[in-house]
Amino acid sequence: MSVLVINAGSSSIKYQLVNPDNSEVIVSGLAERIGEEMGHIDHTHDGETTSLDLPIADHKAGLQKILELFDEFGPHLGPETVRAVGHRVVQGGRYFDKAALIDDEVQKLIEDLIPLAPLHNPAHLSGIKVARSLLPDIPHVAVFDTAFFQGLPDEAATYALDREVAEKYSIRRYGAHGTSHQYVSAKVAEFLGRDDLKQIVLHMGNGASASAVVNGHAVETSMGLTPLEGLVMGTRTGDIDPAVVFHLARVGGMSIDEIDTLFNRGSGLKGLTGSNDMRDVQDGYAAGDKDATVAMEVYVHRLLKYIGSYTAVMGGLDVLTFTAGVGENSSAVRALVGERLASLGVKIDEEKNEVRSREPRVISTDDSRVKVLVVPTNEELAIARQAMDIIGA
Ligand code: AMP
Repeated sequence: MSVLVINAGSSSIKYQLVNPDNSEVIVSGLAERIGEEMGHIDHTHDGETTSLDLPIADHKAGLQKILELFDEFGPHLGPETVRAVGHRVVQGGRYFDKAALIDDEVQKLIEDLIPLAPLHNPAHLSGIKVARSLLPDIPHVAVFDTAFFQGLPDEAATYALDREVAEKYSIRRYGAHGTSHQYVSAKVAEFLGRDDLKQIVLHMGNGASASAVVNGHAVETSMGLTPLEGLVMGTRTGDIDPAVVFHLARVGGMSIDEIDTLFNRGSGLKGLTGSNDMRDVQDGYAAGDKDATVAMEVYVHRLLKYIGSYTAVMGGLDVLTFTAGVGENSSAVRALVGERLASLGVKIDEEKNEVRSREPRVISTDDSRVKVLVVPTNEELAIARQAMDIIGA
C-alpha cells in the first residue's frame, strides 16, 4: 500500500508515490510550466524518467496527464493501490495543529487562509480540488507546514505590534518547513535513543529555517508570518529592518509588489552574488572572490546568531542538526559554523564531517559537549506518514 504525495505550486505539480512503511519511492515526478504556452513533465518510474513537452492548460489537465502516465507505466492509481493522498499545504494558520482529513469544511478553511499565503494556498487548493475530483474514492489529507509550530509559546509567536491590529489581521509568527523540522527532530531522538533533548535543527536548502525543539516540542522557529523571516536564503533576505521597506518606497519610489519581489526573489545569496546556489558561493569563497566572501560571512553569521539565541532560550543545547540541500551536502559550511561555536562546546570531527551518506550521522567528536548531526530530511515521506496517521491506517 502506498501514499500519493502532491505538492501543487502555482505553475507546477510535484508528486511522489511512496511506501510509508519502507520509505520506497515507487514513482516520482514533476509537471511544470502549467498555464504557459509549453509545459513539461518528468515522470520517473523504476529508475527511468519519461520526459514530455506539452501544453498543460491548468492543474486539472496536469493531474489528468499524470494519471495517464501512471496508467501507462503503472501502477494504476485507485483505492486498491493508494491508501491516501497527502497534500502539502504551506499555511494552516491557527486552525490546524496537525494534519487533517480533507472534507468541504477543511477545504474552506484552507481557502480562508489565502490572505496569509497568497502565493501558496490558492495553488494547493486547486491541486486539492482537482485531485479530489479525479481520485474520489481515496481519502485526501492536508499536511500543513505550519502545524508543528502551532504550539509555539506566545512569547515566540507574538510580534510586538499593536495588539488590535495584530488580531484584526491575524499577524503572528506561524513558521514554515514544519514538516521537515518535525521529521528531522524526531529522527534525531530516535537515532540517539532519547526524547529529553534540547535541539536546534537547521533546515538549510534554497529556503532556510532554524528551529529550537525541547523534548519533541517546537519552542522557537526563524520563519514568521511568512517564510521571509529568519536565515539568509537562496533568494530571500531573511531578517531585515522593516524600515527598509519604508525607505525603498519613499526614497526609491518602489511599489509594494516590487519590494516583495526584491525581498523574496532577488535577495539572499542571489542578491549578494548573482547566484542562489551555495555551490557557486562556496567556489567563489574558496577562490577569494569578494562578493562570495561577504555572502558566506553573512550567511554563517546569521546562523550563529540564531544558534546562540536559541541556546539561550532553551537554557542549553544538546544536539545541533544540519539538514536539506546545503545542510546535508556542504561540509564546508558545516565546518565554518562548527569552528565558530567552539565557545558553546561544539567540536566537529573533520573526517566524519566529510562522510557522504543518505543516513543520519554524528559529525562531532566524542568529547564535543554538543552533539552535531547530519540528518537527511524527507518531506514527502513525512507527509505520507502523517496522512496514514490521520486515516488511522
Ligand atoms: P533544497 O532546497 O533542500 O533542495 O536545497 C537546494 C540547495 O542546496 C541548492 O540551492 C544548493 O545551493 C544546495 N546544495 C546542493 N548540493 C550542494 C553541495 N554539494 N554543496 C553546497 N550546497 C549544495
